[in-house]
Amino acid sequence: MRWSKALIPTLKQSPAEAEVVSHKLMIRAGMIRKLASGIYSYMPLCLRVIDKVETIVREEMDKAGAQELLMPVLSPSELWIESGRWDVYGKELMRLEDRNEKHFALGPTHEEVITDIARRELRSYKQLPVCLYQIQTKFRDEIRPRFGVMRGREFTMKDAYSFHPTKECLNKYYKLMFEVYSDIFKRCGLKFRAVLADCGAIGGDETHEFMVLASSGESLVLSCPDDTCGYAATDDTAKSKILSVEENLSGELCEKDTPGKKSVEDVSAFLNVNPFNLIKTLVYKTSKEPVVVLVRGDREINISKLKKVLKDELVELADDKTTTDISGCEVGFAGPVGLKQKVKVIVDLTIKNMGCGVTGANKKDKHYVNVVPGKDFDVEKYYDIAMAKAGDLCVKCSKPLEEFRGIEVGQIFKLGAKYSKSMDANYTGEDGKAKPFIMGCYGIGITRTIAAAIEQNNDENGIIWPMEIAPYQVILIGVNMKDTQTVAICEELYKELKEKSIEVLYDDRDQRAGFKFKDADLIGVPYKVVVSEKNLKENKVEIQERRSGSRDFTPRDNVINYIQSKIYPLF
Ligand code: ATP
Ligand code: MG
Repeated sequence: MRWSKALIPTLKQSPAEAEVVSHKLMIRAGMIRKLASGIYSYMPLCLRVIDKVETIVREEMDKAGAQELLMPVLSPSELWIESGRWDVYGKELMRLEDRNEKHFALGPTHEEVITDIARRELRSYKQLPVCLYQIQTKFRDEIRPRFGVMRGREFTMKDAYSFHPTKECLNKYYKLMFEVYSDIFKRCGLKFRAVLADCGAIGGDETHEFMVLASSGESLVLSCPDDTCGYAATDDTAKSKILSVEENLSGELCEKDTPGKKSVEDVSAFLNVNPFNLIKTLVYKTSKEPVVVLVRGDREINISKLKKVLKDELVELADDKTTTDISGCEVGFAGPVGLKQKVKVIVDLTIKNMGCGVTGANKKDKHYVNVVPGKDFDVEKYYDIAMAKAGDLCVKCSKPLEEFRGIEVGQIFKLGAKYSKSMDANYTGEDGKAKPFIMGCYGIGITRTIAAAIEQNNDENGIIWPMEIAPYQVILIGVNMKDTQTVAICEELYKELKEKSIEVLYDDRDQRAGFKFKDADLIGVPYKVVVSEKNLKENKVEIQERRSGSRDFTPRDNVINYIQSKIYPLF
């Protein structure tokens, strides 16, 4: 491609709204243009990178025996009602109505549609296992679209679904997909980790998220520093051994005045005790009656764990009125001793070895000191419902956990029979009986992966593409386009590079060399082939590597060999 003919609208400045480096650079490099919040046009340079990532995904999925298909973006509400997700999906599902007042969704994911295909087209155990995938535009009306294509409302996803006769068969395929995903992200040049993630309260046996390590990542991961142990999980899933505290309180239960002291910080400061000597009392709403939840004062509740314990997806912190109704007093003074209403109390494991604790007294401006769990209030059972944090000990090997931020670029999921049961999708087994398919699903955010790759591969001058996903492998720069010999050699090299199927962008613009170098650095092409009058005098051409900044000079006739050896180092 000749730059003079290409639409690569680079910018000197990044727009004020861009917070993360990938968003800034994608706009400055002319890769994306915003149409509306979370909705972007992929400009020609971006589309080339999308094609590269999609090719890697297709090659690796096909290698694993998966078959590509393409399902519609629009899907009728009936399917979503059948699976139960028409209501559960909430506002994130983009809905519309046709001229006949029939309701549709713009697909955010395709479990319903693929399960409908499976129940119609897959009949016998002999056809299983089978894995089908597509690469397609997805729609999610995200509450906070941000970071450019990282969290868009319209984005490109590869989604795959596998169908199995047994759990063992799914487990085997899941392991294979784990490897396939690792290979895909390795080929994209990413530093990543697969981490255990939350399956949600309903259905699903096991799931891993593939996290690209980046400080701008929205996910927090806790991981064991010991590679042979390898434990790593998202913060909403992570288990840990939380150390018991040494300094327990002791003494008789008594009531203390705590005027206006409601928060853990205020109460502990006022009573001169440690936050870990407090028992925090919180009220949560569920789809049935509210529950009271207790956790040590220095820890936070993990709502995903709580949802699992309660086997309920609709769990959220209660409003002040509900809390007041249950405790019988102003918010901030609730405690497990003498609650006004009889409700279920869920007690976190951190409270088990507390000895005595400080709790609200269910009276305005009063707290109890020296409350003994199990004696002063009933504890049916202790549950793990606290957030793990860095420094807690690994559940597998007891080393202190570390934390890092990550961008979720892919997720693999053992669905089990969740959709096949709700949608009545069965195959006929060897014994002639109808059985629900055992399913797995596997997603990769194509456009998010590109943003994540930029987060990891950039410097102050711009993007530094890993070779496999670079929009062009080489940029050919003529330093002075007024010099006829420079132009002649550039034209020859451009032709030769193309003949050898090397992806070359020829910056043939009659601009200052500095300007062209800046643009080349910004769009991140891995190698620059620089033709100048000065070097041609010695029959040499300069080759620069974007990542290291290294410069090399090679005879004009060796340029193709040189570039080939860099692009295909194994040849
Ligand atoms: P998140 O937790 O970030 O909202 P998710 O877990 O809901 O993502 P999945 O349903 O697992 O997403 O979708 C599969 C993949 O699609 C994700 O791993 C991610 O790479 C990508 N993806 C999801 N939502 C978006 C989005 N709004 N914009 C761009 N890519 C997305
Ligand atoms: Mg996910």
